[in-house]
Amino acid sequence: MSTSRREFLAGVSAAVAAGMTQGGFHSAAHATEDRKLGVALVGLGSLGTNQVAPALQKTKHCRLAAIVTGTPEKERIWSDRYQIDPRHIYDYDRFDKIVGDDSIDIVYIALPNSMHAEFTIRAARAGKHVFCEKPMANSSEECRQMIAACTAQNRHLGIGYRCQFEPRHVRCMEIAREKQMGGLKVIEAGFGFQIGKPDQWRLRKSLAGGGALMDVGIYALQACRYLTGEEPEAIVAQETKTDADKFAEVDESITWTMRFPSGVLAYCSTSYNFNGLNRFRVYAENGWFGMDPAFSYNDNRLQTSRGSIALPETDQFATELDQFAISIRENRPSHVSGEEGLKDLLAIEAIYRSIPSQTLVATHLS
Ligand code: NAD
Repeated sequence: MSTSRREFLAGVSAAVAAGMTQGGFHSAAHATEDRKLGVALVGLGSLGTNQVAPALQKTKHCRLAAIVTGTPEKERIWSDRYQIDPRHIYDYDRFDKIVGDDSIDIVYIALPNSMHAEFTIRAARAGKHVFCEKPMANSSEECRQMIAACTAQNRHLGIGYRCQFEPRHVRCMEIAREKQMGGLKVIEAGFGFQIGKPDQWRLRKSLAGGGALMDVGIYALQACRYLTGEEPEAIVAQETKTDADKFAEVDESITWTMRFPSGVLAYCSTSYNFNGLNRFRVYAENGWFGMDPAFSYNDNRLQTSRGSIALPETDQFATELDQFAISIRENRPSHVSGEEGLKDLLAIEAIYRSIPSQTLVATHLS
């Protein structure tokens, strides 16, 4: 396991422990300054409205300071609901004016995937730290441009990998890292759902970059990476489309296998065409552990061959935002950095490259 991953686990475990003993993450003894960091939320769609904005009401180190929207009707609604002064409301064209808005420290990007790179780069150039939703971008090349833009401006970049702050996932990482059940052997992981209307951006390649794999398969991929603490060295994938019209531009269902340098094998799946796939299980030398459901916003379950483990519910979005704010204050890279996002995109690109020939693709990631 790399030093950075060890440090990550130690830090997150400490946050989980603090949250458990003090009644939640938000009372974790991490406050280093009184002033909360101001967040500008870009994209007031489903995630921004239902998860991010409510989470920002619970954070200890952040607050909703500004909004960026292309829909004028939303301005009054959000201004009333969250007491946002019109001076801190922007549309996409005026976005760059945030450079002069000192109430904004962090820009949270909750836009369609194809817009992540552009708005990350514009936010960094405006002197703001960036927290960008997953998948980080539509290509590894865009990820590199985003990292370069933030590095050039000495700004922090974090990716919305909320599960890395979920107590059950953290416990699973500990079981894996400490070899509590012996060395890992095989991981099975999958995430999918039945997608709705055919006219949505998630089914347009230019906006989404890909289909189920980019949107939710990435959770299974991430889990395999953070459970092993390794990067896949070889990948083989297959795809099937049962609805060629709906999924004309993006993938419907994909299965793939990954081999990790230590010898761990993972078999993973993702789909936009059925519900219920939301789990991972790790087989180790002396038992198994896993989660089902694994990647939901709440009510995830952790089970092992030795019994189930109950852990408290947390708001994953509030926790990831507070942890990002703390990393900014402590001037250290986020645990869910741009480099983490890039590694996922490199693996995703290897999965897509493998599909036409169904041959093994060396990832050169490890
Ligand atoms: P959504 O469609 O509900 O919202 C997208 C927002 O972008 C809307 O406000 C829309 O008006 C705006 N937008 C601007 N230009 C657009 C365009 N050309 N086409 C479509 N919309 C446009 O999407 P969402 O579910 O909120 O997803 C936003 C991002 O958040 C995606 O990157 C997605 O992967 C990510 N996400 C993450 C999680 C998580 O658990 N971390 C969950 C859901 C979504």
